Amino acid sequence: ELKMEEELNGLFQGSIENHDFHVYLQPKVGLESRALEGAEALVRCIHPKRGVIYPSDFIPLFERNGKICKLDIYVFTKVCRIISRWEKEGKEIIPVSVNLSRQHFTDEDFLDRFADIAGQYHIPAGMIEFELTESIFFDSHQIQRVRDAIQRMHELGFACSLDDFGSGYSSLNLLKNLPIDVLKLDILFFQKSRDIRRERIVVSNVINMAKELDIKTIAEGVEDMDTVEFLRKAGCNVIQGYVFAKPMPQEDFEHLLTDNQDGSFEGC
Ligand code: C2E
Ligand code: MG
Ligand code: MG
Repeated sequence: ELKMEEELNGLFQGSIENHDFHVYLQPKVGLESRALEGAEALVRCIHPKRGVIYPSDFIPLFERNGKICKLDIYVFTKVCRIISRWEKEGKEIIPVSVNLSRQHFTDEDFLDRFADIAGQYHIPAGMIEFELTESIFFDSHQIQRVRDAIQRMHELGFACSLDDFGSGYSSLNLLKNLPIDVLKLDILFFQKSRDIRRERIVVSNVINMAKELDIKTIAEGVEDMDTVEFLRKAGCNVIQGYVFAKPMPQEDFEHLLTDNQDGSFEGC
């Protein structure tokens, strides 16, 4: 375990500088519009010798050694570049979300850095969304801090989503206290359920609750059309899952964006 960690640590020494990190985009498809409505930026390490390394193998390590903040800024900057290029090329621009590690919250003014970068690239308001995972919250003090940060995000023109909703314990309390724009239903809701009737009752009521709170819902990790049809009836707004597409390199995503623009895009 420790040895593996040392190896990974060595592997990533300078990886950011070496351009081994790549930003993949996973499509988000509107259930009503059946069109491409957004994307999530997901990092991949493509190592010259080891091939593709997935975030689950290095994010926990980066969270412990502090490199995660640098990586998040790197991913965010890449996303700004992508959006600004779409704009220059006359492509349709759609919102892109980026994941934000809990580590950022130790610095009161961390959002200023993100806002500076977005400003440099002239990113229009509403085009970048920060995803915060449920697991960043510990106590009521923390919630206050995160609530302030979300307010600041809104002032700066960023949207905010609560990621992995339903994977932890504190979910409803967060929904009550945080002014989030989007709720991302965790993949766990849609995988290996023992009792599909119970699953659907829980999911449809969470969707209704979000709707009443004016919060958009995204179902993550959906892999089959049955679930898509159920979610459509339940009033879920957006699907992000293999049923439609896996995370893909920027160039592949841009083909979809072009199809979307000329009407030949086929969503689920
Ligand atoms: P997440 O933010 O919840 O991202 C969704 C994960 O679910 C992604 O895994 C995605 O590939 C996967 N996924 C999407 N649809 C399906 C599906 O239908 N079936 C299955 N089995 N999986 C699906 P990925 O890319 O491996 O990322 C894992 C986690 O790593 C992310 O979970 C996020 O928490 C973290 N992460 C990724 N990129 C970054 C980053 O740039 N910064 C930070 N701080 N965390 C990141
Ligand atoms: Mg996410
Ligand atoms: Mg998630």
